[in-house]
Amino acid sequence: MIRITHHRAKCIGCNYCVEVAPSRWTMDESDGKSNLNGASGKKGFFTVIASDDEFYANTEAAEICPVKIIKVEKI
Ligand code: SF4
Repeated sequence: MIRITHHRAKCIGCNYCVEVAPSRWTMDESDGKSNLNGASGKKGFFTVIASDDEFYANTEAAEICPVKIIKVEKI
């Protein structure tokens, strides 16, 4: 399993995470930031547990994010 974390409060809405991992990320038209699908959170941080087969796409999202607010770790 993996844990994906999104510091959503600092998202600049560039859409890169949606492009590389579209099954896990969507843009929120209400405020122009991305949403980590299925995540729960508070105070601007969102977290979700996902299966290993999402590791590579979301690691790519973490690497491509220009403000480095996505973290992916194996658990
Ligand atoms: S790549 Fe980073 S800054 Fe860009 S939309 Fe995704 S989380 Fe936000």
